[in-house]
Amino acid sequence: MKLHILRCGRIRVSETVPFGNRIDLGNTRKQLLAPDRDRVELPVFCYLIEHPRGPVLVDTGWCRDISPDGVFDPRAVGRVLPPHLAAFYHPLLPAGEAIHEQLAARGLRAEDLNCIVLTHLDPDHVAGLRHLGRAGRIVLPEDEYFWSCRTVFKARQPRSLWIDSPLERLYYRGSPLGPNRWAIDLFGDESLQLVNVPGHTDGQAAVLVRSGGRFVLLAADAAFSPRNWREEITPGFGFDRGRQLQSLRWISSMAAEPGCAAVLCSHDPAIQPDLITL
Ligand SMILES: [Zn+2]
Repeated sequence: MKLHILRCGRIRVSETVPFGNRIDLGNTRKQLLAPDRDRVELPVFCYLIEHPRGPVLVDTGWCRDISPDGVFDPRAVGRVLPPHLAAFYHPLLPAGEAIHEQLAARGLRAEDLNCIVLTHLDPDHVAGLRHLGRAGRIVLPEDEYFWSCRTVFKARQPRSLWIDSPLERLYYRGSPLGPNRWAIDLFGDESLQLVNVPGHTDGQAAVLVRSGGRFVLLAADAAFSPRNWREEITPGFGFDRGRQLQSLRWISSMAAEPGCAAVLCSHDPAIQPDLITL
């Protein structure tokens, strides 16, 4: 199996987002009000997996409308995101990085994908859905969808970005994997499993890609960098720090397994677009 790491835009956020170590009003204020010069620029990664059953895309990144000229364009952002999220993310999407542009560069169309997996419903992971209208199957955990009605997630996850997509909601089941021991075995052969890693959102999935005796763990936003689990510094963006810690400890245990080829975080600036062969 091959896994392509695709960078589908950037965010310019307060450094309390990756390393805030608590979720409180002080960090939230910094995240909304920090001037652009005081922010860190982080990548937004999606993943294209060459699976024996067909290509599988994990997350979709930003949409072209948010950054028509490839730069941070506050007016364009304001047409896609409400003001508080525009202030939080400062997103940009350089030319050629939108998900449909990257698929086209590889000779792929949305309808060629076996499925799209959404790790969670935050806008930097789902905005690209609007470019993938002809994809056959778009899956996400029912737990993520269910809690999207909770006030904190209503504010974080604009419904306009995903409500019109035909989402297939899958239930977590008992599993040896994850801090909750909840996972979804997508193809029933353990080659691709969505493992519940709560804390950033309730229902968020990490994606465990296994081939032979090796695996890659896509940690989504449960961690922003290995520093989070090595030093037990929790990201300052989430909703439950205790659950963030439980998820970080599970990721740390997976990173220490001998079959671990990589643990990849969706916004780790130390990672470059790359190809991993399993
Ligand atoms: Zn994210």
